[in-house]
Amino acid sequence: MENKKMGWKELPDADSMSAGTSTEFKTGDWRSQRPVFHKENCIHCLRCWVMCPDVSIIVKDGKVMGYDYDHCKGCGICASECPINKKVEFEKDKCAITMADEKEFQK
Ligand code: SF4
Ligand code: SF4
Repeated sequence: MENKKMGWKELPDADSMSAGTSTEFKTGDWRSQRPVFHKENCIHCLRCWVMCPDVSIIVKDGKVMGYDYDHCKGCGICASECPINKKVEFEKDKCAITMADEKEFQK
């Protein structure tokens, strides 16, 4: 006997989220890598702030202050897009942002 395929009307309901709740979920606990800010090397161009997909770069008065670790997922886009990092060819002590193993901060 041939199996009848399920029609879309028979599919179970999926979960849904209310709108505007993204800040309530601390998605930062997924992170395996953490951005570390090196203020002394930063020129505050704000490219990292523009590029961060999780709006997790904290800026005050036009200057980078650090990261919102409750929501930063550790994608590393900020570090790879930082013009200082590129200029110094990711040489750690000259970078404005370095990525570190999240486990180092959980001890
Ligand atoms: S992209 Fe780099 S230099 Fe520019 S504000 Fe961010 S950390 Fe600073
Ligand atoms: S690691 Fe990704 S999510 Fe975290 S601050 Fe950088 S760009 Fe934003």
